[in-house]
Amino acid sequence: MSNDYTEMWSSLGLNLQAHQGLLGVLSDAYQNIYLSQQGRPEGIKYFDFVISEVHGQRIVEIVKKKMEGKPIIGTFCVYVPEELILAVDGVAVGLCAGADVGTDEAEKYLPRTTCALIKAFMGFKLAGLCPYVESTDLIVGETTCDGKKKAYEILNEVTGKVYVMELPNMKNDESKILWKKEVRKFARKLSEITGIEITLERLKEASSIVNAKRKALQRLSALRSHDPAPISGLDALLINQVSFYDDPVRFTSQVNGLCDELEKRAKAGTGVAPKGTPRVLISGSPMAIPNWKLHAVVEGSGAVVVGEESCVGERNFSTLFDRSFSSVDETIDAIADRYMTINCACFTPNNERLGDIKSMIEKLHAHGLIHYALQFCTPYMVEAYRVRQAINGGRFPFLGIETDYSMEDMGQLKTRIEAFVEMIKEGPHS
Ligand code: SF4
Ligand code: SF4
Repeated sequence: MSNDYTEMWSSLGLNLQAHQGLLGVLSDAYQNIYLSQQGRPEGIKYFDFVISEVHGQRIVEIVKKKMEGKPIIGTFCVYVPEELILAVDGVAVGLCAGADVGTDEAEKYLPRTTCALIKAFMGFKLAGLCPYVESTDLIVGETTCDGKKKAYEILNEVTGKVYVMELPNMKNDESKILWKKEVRKFARKLSEITGIEITLERLKEASSIVNAKRKALQRLSALRSHDPAPISGLDALLINQVSFYDDPVRFTSQVNGLCDELEKRAKAGTGVAPKGTPRVLISGSPMAIPNWKLHAVVEGSGAVVVGEESCVGERNFSTLFDRSFSSVDETIDAIADRYMTINCACFTPNNERLGDIKSMIEKLHAHGLIHYALQFCTPYMVEAYRVRQAINGGRFPFLGIETDYSMEDMGQLKTRIEAFVEMIKEGPHS
């Protein structure tokens, strides 16, 4: 980090010693996993910088906004409408966590058999390691999976600032009506805490910012369809993770700048791995920062990851919202409709997700699918069966992985993934 932020971290109530340890581990992991990659595009340097300052300069910016009276809104799920947060001049920050820290603290409140993501966000808070959660004015939960919704009750006891949106588990007409009411209620809540009335102008401006961000991420995703792949899966994953933290306008401009460079690479046939390298699509539970484990193993096994059917990935940006409406109510309803197009395994039935996966396999010219479920993530663990049936009917190479954030299963994962990559190389898709 470029500066000494000790005073700021201390004023946010972080556990300075433990936090220092965390930053050391993160920096080593980043060095080993990211900075050791070959042939990275120039434009990725901005994202390296963002990571090096993830608890530094970005927090300085957020604290400054907070002092200007702008609300800092923490979220855990891509169903929480970012447009509404921006419409009240708020800052949206993703609070999902992807590291095995604070687990002992978290397990004082949660069963050991809770998914790593939930344990991590509780652990980061309880161990005093997350400056983002400490900066928030409101933490928005949602009734998605059982683990999350029960953990929010405890998180609210600890922080006193959790607001939960009721997300239905089906997508029928009645559920859509309920969801529209929830989105309107959330808009009212944001107005109430900020004193800012959400107007049509504000909604239009906020929507155009979020839309531009999604378009840039779509552009990045489309560029990964080239062979050779102009960017590694690890780097693309990183960009998707950063999309939940960074200033959206600056982020969009940096992603577009990088995409200009990737377009040139694609035209020149420059890639991060030779043409014909096995191409893998990853699908399943979200990979919150700094969870780079699976991508690192896959790309270390001689394949390239070409896409993520995940919330830290395609589910976050695949649908745009760029229509204009003539009233606030109409616009908020349309925003609610847009979020209902996300296909999370918490929904039943969730056939649309199967269609999304098939379409990504085709568009990105993937040779194999790795279904990734965090251990104890029942929705994705169970849905893996239907995903396998949907694509494996056509005998498409499929590998189901259940793992967590620990490094204990690295050897076993490596063996299975290397065998999978070999199978792709020898198969008809090569
Ligand atoms: S997997 Fe489901 S619950 Fe988790 S962030 Fe995505 S949409 Fe939300
Ligand atoms: S990864 Fe699965 S179990 Fe964990 S919070 Fe997300 S949906 Fe719930």
